[in-house]
Amino acid sequence: MVIDRIEAFPLHYPEPHDSGNSRYVTLVKLTTADGLVGWGECICQFPEAALATRVIVDAGLAPLLTGQDPRDVERLWQAMRDRSWWYGNGGIAAFAISAIDMALWDVKGKALGVPLYDLLGGRRAKLRACASVIFDTEDLAATHAEFAGYVARGYTAVKGGWGKSRATSFGLDPARDLRVVSTIRDAIGPKVDFVVDVGTHVHWTSSHAIKMARAFEAYDLFWIEEPLPQDDIDGYVRLRRAVATPIAAGEKEWTLRAFKALIDAGAVDIVMPDAGKAEGVTGCKKIIDLAAAHGVRFTPHSWSSAINTAAAAHLFASAANGVVFELKPNPSPMQHELVRDPIVQVDGYVTLPNGPGLGIAVVEDVVQRYLMR
Ligand SMILES: [Mg+2]
Repeated sequence: MVIDRIEAFPLHYPEPHDSGNSRYVTLVKLTTADGLVGWGECICQFPEAALATRVIVDAGLAPLLTGQDPRDVERLWQAMRDRSWWYGNGGIAAFAISAIDMALWDVKGKALGVPLYDLLGGRRAKLRACASVIFDTEDLAATHAEFAGYVARGYTAVKGGWGKSRATSFGLDPARDLRVVSTIRDAIGPKVDFVVDVGTHVHWTSSHAIKMARAFEAYDLFWIEEPLPQDDIDGYVRLRRAVATPIAAGEKEWTLRAFKALIDAGAVDIVMPDAGKAEGVTGCKKIIDLAAAHGVRFTPHSWSSAINTAAAAHLFASAANGVVFELKPNPSPMQHELVRDPIVQVDGYVTLPNGPGLGIAVVEDVVQRYLMR
């Protein structure tokens, strides 16, 4: 079995969970000489990143892998890292590696006729879902109704963060932050797990984060997500030592080395690798195992396409240190149009795809519909 071709598809779509704003992913389609097809995705987020990822695939990684056995995933993953030694170790190279690696695992599962979770050593059929949204920090009646609605639909965990605009982002106004948190706790009742994700454009200091985390204690947060700038590892250590609420970070990180730095420092309770960014299923598996060995839990960051959601689900199902499974709760083109069999929440859980590989069927007409022109 050899790889015949690897094609990259940068997509542009409106994200209903982000007020219909433009979002970008790049998909990879890997085809073997005997006709097996695997799909992968990276969460590029920006148009320049989606297009640049296609260049890395077309000019570098696809020629490198063509003619090789796609089942030799670990070696090919290392070969892609070696190829991008000068421009990679994160960044656009990690996007390209992530998407191709995911497609390699998809093909390997299809070649062997087994779901990806079986290849990774897992068998958990159901994952507890967490409805994950950008919340409205101003119209609190709407926010109250929205979160009560998720609980009514069966969710036992919810996550809200950021805010509808930069000016009203969570984290900018302590009084408003407390109103938002108390509103949501009131809406969901005392038993539902509740995560707050501080906006990425908010630059808290560790002192402020400690003050806010203590103020939030009355509302029993499941974890506080990314309260500090990515590089403030010392701040994370100080924060984590000062508060009882678990601290999560890592969706902005790319490599095992970066996650090792967070884990070694004791900076976080929960790491959040994204399979569409942290060098694919292979990269995430290494990160998840490293976390487990240090008593650190993980929650997969997954907020892009159904391909990423499937990869995250298989990873989650094959690890013992997963917390809850992040899911966009409402209809979205990349979740519900892109594949014939989207992963959905029922009674608080999602059921793992059982088909071979990622277990999803990509609709190629939809890929063409959202292709960047
Ligand atoms: Mg987040």
